[in-house]
Order: sequence, then structure tokens, then C-alpha cells
Amino acid sequence: MVHMDTKLIHGGIDGDENTGAVNVPIYQTSTYRQIELGKNKGYEYSRTKNPTRDALEALIAELESAKFGFAFASGMAAISAVLSLFKTGDKLLISSNVYGGTFRVLDKVFSQFGISYEIVETGDLEVFEKSITQEVKAVLIESPANPLMGVSDIAKIAKIAKKHGILSIVDNTFMTPYLQRPIELGVDVVIHSATKYLGGHGDLIAGLVVTNDEVLGQKIGFIQNSTGGILSPFESFLLVRGIKTLGVRMERHCENALFIAKHLQTHQGIEKVFYPALPEDKGYAINSAQASGGGGMISFILKEEYDYKKFFASVKLIALAESLGGVESLLCHPASMTHASIPSEIRCKMGISDRLIRLSVGIEDKNDILKDLQNAIKLSLKA
Ligand SMILES: *Cc1c(COP(=O)(O)O)cnc(C)c1O
Repeated sequence: MVHMDTKLIHGGIDGDENTGAVNVPIYQTSTYRQIELGKNKGYEYSRTKNPTRDALEALIAELESAKFGFAFASGMAAISAVLSLFKTGDKLLISSNVYGGTFRVLDKVFSQFGISYEIVETGDLEVFEKSITQEVKAVLIESPANPLMGVSDIAKIAKIAKKHGILSIVDNTFMTPYLQRPIELGVDVVIHSATKYLGGHGDLIAGLVVTNDEVLGQKIGFIQNSTGGILSPFESFLLVRGIKTLGVRMERHCENALFIAKHLQTHQGIEKVFYPALPEDKGYAINSAQASGGGGMISFILKEEYDYKKFFASVKLIALAESLGGVESLLCHPASMTHASIPSEIRCKMGISDRLIRLSVGIEDKNDILKDLQNAIKLSLKA
């Protein structure tokens, strides 16, 4: 079997059969001339199937060790397509730190169709298993989860889910298949916001879904074509291009993040650092067993003597911005940004205080990133 680094570059559909082009071209077409009535070359209409999207879908399936891949116009379109598998009366269990948009679409959109959810602590397997009642049809988790980098045992959750006949779904955005492959751990469906590490350059919005199951593959493909939230040929091309460098980028993200996390850990202005590759981190053992690195996301809590608003105003190199996973370092204030849609009492219960800061560690020079952070912490000390 070829190594992941080789798959990233040659996986899926390696080049264009028609012309020999090394890269699959952007097939910017909506429709296809048919040979005769009832006979075509495998393509009829680009919502259903497009060669550039095919290349991406085959690639993500191969990288995640799955049979079927599907590309969507955003991570949320991908998640919504998966949630469309469920019907009135069905309930999903979600981990307590799921992406804010996932919570919102369940809470405000799918609830309208009688699909409910319950937030459970999936880090605690007993609590999780006890929550599986008759109406529960699936569990949806992230590991590490946004923004406290909480780790859940993916293989054990998949096993418990299987035992109770419910679907296991993992949002693998933070880890990417380079570091973690949930299908290999027994999970049924994997989702990505490819906007983040897979694209990697902060220049596109995309979502992906993979599964190994024939029936689920059929259903998700049907939903993709029926609801139509597909990824365009141009974006599909950009994403294939971004994935080629995923290996070198993730190595550097991991190296830089561990460096920053270790330094912040001993900084006098920091109360706590969350990063699953720190041996002191709660999720270290499980993350090390199920993933080959800690990824590029860390979060930390500023001490009370420091003004978090001043901290955000004082960084120079690092941008204050939504999103993550790009080559550039980005800072985010979960309480007012990614998790603003979650009511404050639920948010506090989740441990997302105002002094919590999330950092997407980019692939710039690690000392430059550190200096920017140290300087901003220093400037934010209250008088
Ligand atoms: C960003 C993100 C999403 C949503 O993806 P979009 O591409 O922004 O629609 C879903 N899950 C996680 C973990 C994310 O970080």
C-alpha cells in the first residue's frame, strides 16, 4: 500500500485520461453532449456528476480509507446533507463542544422537521451509552473538539454505536486524514469542513463527506444530487491542489503548535493551555492512540490580571479572524465569535469563558508567532 504522502499527490484520479494532463482540469461545464438517446459518456449534468469533482471525491475517499466521497459547497452543506438522512422523531447525540454552526443548524433548522438533539459528554463513555434511548439514531462528535480541544475515544464510541444500532459520525476537520482516519476506527460517516486544513490556504469554502457503507453511500449521493449543495469545478480543482501539500503543512502545523503550547504553558500570564499533544493534557493518551499528531489548534485561558480585549488589539502578525487551518496563524475569541450562537448559560457550562482564546497555529516561523503572542500578553496586563 502506498504511503499517505504519496496518496495525497497521486490518489483518487491521477491526471486526465483524455489529454494526459498531469492535473485534472477544471471541467467548467453544466452539461454534456449525449451520444444518442439514452447513451452518454458517464456524465449528463454537473449537479449529478462532474469530472473535476469526481477527482476530488475519489481522492478524499481514498485518503479516509472509504469507498464513497462527496463534495459540497461548504462544511455546513456537507453536515446538512448528512443530517438529511434522519426523519421526524429521530434524535442525535452530539458532543458538548461541537462546532457552533453544527449546533445552530440542529437547533434552528432540523428541529423544525422534528429531528432533535441532546448534548452529551462523549468523553465519558458511560454517560454516552446511557444516553442512547429508543429515539436516538446517531452520535455526532469532533475529536479534538472546538474550542477546548476535548478528546473522545473514537473507536470506543463507534463500537458502542454499532452495538446499539445507531450511526457514528465524526467531523474530522481539525485532524484531517493525514493525522486521523475515523473510518479505520470503525466510524460510519466522516465529515469535513475542507475550508480549513484540506484547502489549507484560506481561499475557499468547501465540505466533504465519506462513508464505507454501500447503503449510506447511495443515500448520501441521492441527497447530494437532490438537494444540490455541490462544490463547483473550480473549487474542486483548488481543493485537490491544496490537498497535495497537506502532509508537509500538517507536519509543520503540529511542530509549531507544540512549540507554542509548551511556551504558553510556562508563561506567567496564562492560566491553562489546551492542546492534546501536551503530555499534561487530559486527552493526551487517547489522542496519541487514535491520531498521529496533535494538529495545529490550541486554546488557552488568559489570567484574570490580563485584559483579553487588549490582547486581541495587540497582536500584529497574527490576524483576528474566523476560520482556521490555513497557512497563516489566526486568533479567535470563541465566546463572541464561533460560539456566539450558543446561549451564554450553555456556553459557560461548556467552559467557554471570555478569557478563552483559540489559536490556529500557522506555518510561519514559530519564533515569530511566539514573539507576537508574548508581546500581546505583555501589553494586555491590566494597570
Ligand atoms: C468550519 C467548521 C465547520 C463548518 O464548515 P464551513 O466550511 O464553514 O461551512 C464545521 N465543523 C468544523 C469543525 C469547522 O471548523
